[in-house]
Amino acid sequence: MKAILLADIGQLLTLRSSAPGPRRGAALSEPGIIEDASVLCIGGKIVSVGKTKDALRDPWLKKNRKKVVEIDCAGRVVLPGFVDSHTHPVFTHPRLVDFEKRIGGASYEEITEAGGGIRSSIQGVRQASEASLAEKVLSALRDMANCGTTTVEAKSGYGLDLDSEVKSLEAIRQATGQWPGTVVPTFLGAHLVPPEYRGRSQAYVELVCNEMIPAIAKRKLARFVDVFCDRGAFSADETAKIFRAAAEHELGVRAHMGQLSETRLGQFLQFRPASLDHMDHVNEADLPALAASHTVATFVPGANYFLGLSRYPNARKFIAAGVAVALATDYNPGSSPTLSMPMAMSLAATQMKMSPAEAITAATINGAWALRLADRKGSIEPGKDADLAVFDVKDYREIPYWFGANHCTLTILSGITIGFVSA
Ligand SMILES: [Zn+2]
Repeated sequence: MKAILLADIGQLLTLRSSAPGPRRGAALSEPGIIEDASVLCIGGKIVSVGKTKDALRDPWLKKNRKKVVEIDCAGRVVLPGFVDSHTHPVFTHPRLVDFEKRIGGASYEEITEAGGGIRSSIQGVRQASEASLAEKVLSALRDMANCGTTTVEAKSGYGLDLDSEVKSLEAIRQATGQWPGTVVPTFLGAHLVPPEYRGRSQAYVELVCNEMIPAIAKRKLARFVDVFCDRGAFSADETAKIFRAAAEHELGVRAHMGQLSETRLGQFLQFRPASLDHMDHVNEADLPALAASHTVATFVPGANYFLGLSRYPNARKFIAAGVAVALATDYNPGSSPTLSMPMAMSLAATQMKMSPAEAITAATINGAWALRLADRKGSIEPGKDADLAVFDVKDYREIPYWFGANHCTLTILSGITIGFVSA
């Protein structure tokens, strides 16, 4: 792997932190900008960060210039590769009938009741081969990298039986091996009670706890266990039970929380969830305890947008309370078919009143915290992985501003470059 020098960067958003822990409150608004900057990466790691004129005086660089790939950024914006901390990439087909039904006025739950929704994705995954699923995942990862994403959390959760969940996680592992970025696999067996367990959710929860989690932990197929804790999915007690089983097998936990209805959060914080995601419906009295924890609240406004909701999570209340917030795409075929973190950031800005700086912090360093990878990911600092995105804009605020367009021209994933910077 050749050393890389990114030079003549107009705005370099380092996202370096002065305080430990995820960013909260006013610290969300500090992208740590260096103008006329350069970044030197060697062996897949960031080695130095500073002004271009200082980098060119570096004795190592002077001596080794011929061995270094120099990329002239021509005044463009460079930031840490996005950390998309919530995606569901293991599925076979888009849900176009659901899409049209929803346009016609059907609700999320009405679509599920009619046999659409998650159930139609389950059928697809159960019938698919591991290789064909791996191909779908890899294609999504490549598209994500084209939009500036370098780290992706990838959930199973459309198999919902032991074999299909293992197959889904194996597909993620297979795709990961062919992609230079970083993938964090999550087991989401508790996505929905599958049709064959209808009315017997307790029995399904026992299957998840006593068979699936042990099998997945043994094969090291996941780093986290996720639960869809909501009306129509899994109760708070069931969620706690699954968290306990995950902890027994030394797996981290995270949950879909408050998408459709409110659940009190206090009962879960003892399990130290890395992240609680969606958070549309939350009891404000729970925010101080959440703020005092290392649990990140991850917003996925793409789902609100695609479901045509007028209501979005109240990001300002979370930020004012001191909660660490992150942003993710929630890439999935039912409620958020987008791979684009800039789109999620644009929605955060226009619909949730997060500033461009807050949105970028939430999409980078706080996303890394939500995956417990902040020691390696989410900021541009010496010693961290060489994960960077170059955007063909002069001002970072243009990234959420030009919504629906992709201005990412080059992505570097652990020191491997993809894309093209034109002169
Ligand atoms: Zn989700």
